[in-house]
Amino acid sequence: MPDLTLQRCASCGAELPERDARTSCPACGGLLALEHAPPAERGAALRDRFDARLRDAAAGHVADAAGAARASGVWRFRELIMPGATDADIVSQPEGNTPLFHRPSVAAWAGVDGLLLKHDGFNPTGSFKDRGMTVALTQARRAGARAVACASTGNTSAALAAYAALAGVPGLVLVPAPKGGAQQVALGKLAQTLAYGARTLLVRGDFDDCLRLVREGAERLGVYLVNSINPYRIEGQKSVALEILQQLAWNAPDWIVLPAGNLGNTSAVGAALRDAVRLGLIDRAPRIASIQAAGANPFASGYRENFATQHRVKAETVATAIKIGDPASWDRAAAVIREFDGVVTDVSDAEILEAKAAIDAAGIGCEPASAASVAGVRRLAREGVIRAGDRVAAILTGHVLKDPGVLLDYHRADHDAPLVNAPVEVDATLDALARVVDATAAAAGR
Ligand SMILES: *Cc1c(COP(=O)(O)O)cnc(C)c1O
Ligand SMILES: [Zn+2]
Repeated sequence: MPDLTLQRCASCGAELPERDARTSCPACGGLLALEHAPPAERGAALRDRFDARLRDAAAGHVADAAGAARASGVWRFRELIMPGATDADIVSQPEGNTPLFHRPSVAAWAGVDGLLLKHDGFNPTGSFKDRGMTVALTQARRAGARAVACASTGNTSAALAAYAALAGVPGLVLVPAPKGGAQQVALGKLAQTLAYGARTLLVRGDFDDCLRLVREGAERLGVYLVNSINPYRIEGQKSVALEILQQLAWNAPDWIVLPAGNLGNTSAVGAALRDAVRLGLIDRAPRIASIQAAGANPFASGYRENFATQHRVKAETVATAIKIGDPASWDRAAAVIREFDGVVTDVSDAEILEAKAAIDAAGIGCEPASAASVAGVRRLAREGVIRAGDRVAAILTGHVLKDPGVLLDYHRADHDAPLVNAPVEVDATLDALARVVDATAAAAGR
């Protein structure tokens, strides 16, 4: 079969064939983007095809490789992601098909009635990174890679480790080593990576050092790089936006809001909307709002200056998944913000933790970085950028159990913050239990 996908350098236009395992331009070092042969259908016919696959997936499949590929919320959109992949090529758990919640308490906290929460923490390893990793490992196998590697703030490692195990390809992850006794990677993510069996390197440096090292090493050591600079990962991550549109019966919301670190996801959401408009899946695109942590906000600073120069900062935030000072996908994310009338803002760690407490207390929960999106919605609503009547889909990127350390530190008796729920130590007596039951019921007005 001829290639249905071309890899093209976004900087100089150089072309690489579909299965070339390099992940940056050999001529100029620029990032690669994929161009696919156009699908045979568009508009209503293409929507119908995607909707039929959704019904088919809901009907259930045996979870063999082909069944997983057909049930996946990523591969449902395969014409837009990797049109040349066959069921036999695909490495899928399956992933995607995550819920779109409406929680009145969270909407009220943010001040936007129409707030929807696209919870990608419901993916197999608990974060949206699975959407990109299913495509990256599929490509690694098609390209005959001898190993795959990534630098990570944690979730990419967990996803790599799980999908590498599924694909039968050795995986290596580079994460920042503990510094001054403090873990630099959230406990749940590190535990998953070890459990799924990826070789784990604790690098004496920060995330940006890990990424530089793995980029240098991958090329020389013949290891396939699956960081978000890998264009196949971006293709898979497009599916989160496509799923939102499909869940809303292809009536686009006014906004898609998401946390922003290395900016792969901002790039991917933009690329998906570009496809959706071009192919007539929707008739108007939502606006995009990318939310950074105030202590890791180079992109928000750049936005305020119309992206005149690329900013770098020394990152510091409780939201470790977006603790990135020198984002790799800056150029393509800046293009997306311009194209979709987007905005970029930043929120403090206190705002992030307060948003997280509201999401957690609604019974769904998320990791700190994910809550940045909801904190950003509140910020933008207060500024009048998002209007109270707007339909807003905020992406929750990771599961509440990813970062138990932050949770236990929040819910301390001596911590003065909203919704603190410190554990209560009691004697093993019925009296003691009765006092707590009475007080708890009274506080709830029951
Ligand atoms: C990776 C990650 C992000 C940031 O996505 P980028 O593509 O790096 O901008 C946000 N939240 C979570 C939970 C993540 O794992
Ligand atoms: Zn180039």
